[in-house]
Amino acid sequence: MNNLAGFLTSGAVALPAAAVVYLWERWRLSRPGGPYARADFSGLILLVALAASWWVYLPTHPQLAGVLFGGGIVFVIAALADNWRPAWWLAIVGVVVVGALLSYQGVTVRVVNLPFSQNDISLGWFGHVVTVLWMVICAVLFAQAASILAVPLGVAGLAAGTFFLVCQLQPAVTGPVAAFAAVTVCGACLVQLPFARMLSYAGATAGAYTIGYLIGALSVMGALKNAAFLVAVLPLIVVGVPLFAATYTYAAELRRGWRAVVFTERRRHLHDLLLSQGYSQRQVIGILLGGTVYLCLLALLLVWIIKITFVVKIVVVAATVAFGLLFFYTLLRLLPHAPAEQLPRSSGQVRLLGMPLDPLTLDEALQEAERFLVEDRPHMIVTPDASAVVRAQHDKELRQIIEEADLVPPDGAGVVLAARMLNLPVDVRCAGCDMVEQLCRAAANRGRAVYLLGGEAGVAEEAAAKLQERISGLEIAGCQHGYFTPEEEPEIVKDIRQKRPGVLLVALGIPRQEKWIKAHLEDLRVPICIGVGGSLDVISGRKKRAPVWMQRAGLEWLYRTIKEPHRLLRLQALPAIVWMSIRELLRSPDLPSEPPQNG
Ligand code: UDP
Repeated sequence: MNNLAGFLTSGAVALPAAAVVYLWERWRLSRPGGPYARADFSGLILLVALAASWWVYLPTHPQLAGVLFGGGIVFVIAALADNWRPAWWLAIVGVVVVGALLSYQGVTVRVVNLPFSQNDISLGWFGHVVTVLWMVICAVLFAQAASILAVPLGVAGLAAGTFFLVCQLQPAVTGPVAAFAAVTVCGACLVQLPFARMLSYAGATAGAYTIGYLIGALSVMGALKNAAFLVAVLPLIVVGVPLFAATYTYAAELRRGWRAVVFTERRRHLHDLLLSQGYSQRQVIGILLGGTVYLCLLALLLVWIIKITFVVKIVVVAATVAFGLLFFYTLLRLLPHAPAEQLPRSSGQVRLLGMPLDPLTLDEALQEAERFLVEDRPHMIVTPDASAVVRAQHDKELRQIIEEADLVPPDGAGVVLAARMLNLPVDVRCAGCDMVEQLCRAAANRGRAVYLLGGEAGVAEEAAAKLQERISGLEIAGCQHGYFTPEEEPEIVKDIRQKRPGVLLVALGIPRQEKWIKAHLEDLRVPICIGVGGSLDVISGRKKRAPVWMQRAGLEWLYRTIKEPHRLLRLQALPAIVWMSIRELLRSPDLPSEPPQNG
């Protein structure tokens, strides 16, 4: 266990130094009048860790010692460049010079091993270029993600630790140097991690350049050991979060057109995005590091099933990543967080997949509805979910109805998802059940009655009774089940008109309820007519609503499908609306036909 000895040695030197520095910084910052310019002790810790490892490895692994020495040089150049003035290019020049020297000394990508072939491709002199480029890419990606330093440090530390475990599992494939290297990076990152929140910016950036460089260089050394698959995948996992963030940023920019990619701010990483959504720094660190742990476990799984063919591996990776994305998305929705940065609202309708949509919250939608009550002329509210949007693409009548509706607040997680993909300012959905209750409250406040139409026999009456229990002073104008014949319709319309309710709740299911309301809107003369789908079933208590956590996670559709499997077919609306949104994105209507002139 020579490598463990190396790790313990570097840790034994660095940890007490780190503890002393930590206490010193705390004392200094707590003094009245502080803090003043912080000395960069974080860099000292990194340098001590590098020097200790260098000392340990020099006799037996001179090449590794060379990489670590190079790390020290990169750190010093990056720190000086940043203290002098933010000269990021100088840090990159440092990485290029050190990378070129190392490559000349043999730390080079000599061959590449393609996934589907057994043959190695020799790179010749081009290998030096690839080597240097790879180190620069790793360093830059890492440094860019350094605005919350705990993220890249934690990612690198965890991934290097995983790599160490991989080396223990497959010593013959990876060779001893890779294990030593992994231990060094892991130690360097973990030692810095507790200080991440108090590191000065210059030290943070320089440290990030150094660790990025180390990862790049060490993965090249691994490549020499022919562990092609592992070294191709693991460095990606190591820089996975920054890389993902950069990709996300580019994808987001691409949505606005190619020119925007070049000219607009590109440094909005995933963690910046989460922060702007109102998550705390602690939550963001937890989420991203949690995601990394998940990826690391995936890496270990891949090593464990290393005998399995490449195709099976790809399938396993795709399935695990898809599950992970769903899990973390749900987790994000569940975590309590402050409201997102204020989105431009109420500035008028937006258009989602060719249809109007009012980007309103429930409260804002209710304000509009109250206005309808005061105006006292017929209005129609449509709350489209994903199935309605998808159906309206080919159902001309439904599309026309939505087009002419007085208010179209979004309902359903699918609609909100599509709107977010298309960068429309739609943030929350107005769930049907909540809307019904609030509309009834508004009607009661204004002394207007409510009429309930739809559902099986007895449902409307039971829902009315429940609503009256909850809302004092609510007057019910009438109740009518939804399984009537066309011949009975005129009588029902007449009944509603005579009773003059302020709100008519129509529960006949999409699109029948919308078409029914539209056909009779003028005859009914009700200020607010709204299709409410299965809401009366839920309010009556005959059907249960999804638990609150599922509602918050936008998973109500899943609950309803489990409870009512016959709704399974309706689920196709979700992938359909996502696919339609992607198509819309690719069509990119914002793309300028003429590229803007420079300058
Ligand atoms: N319904 C009705 N008459 C019909 C068909 C349906 O009253 O001819 C009722 C049905 O009993 C249910 C509601 O309409 O209460 C439709 O609920 P669903 O959950 O399908 O609608 P969604 O909320 O999905 O739009």
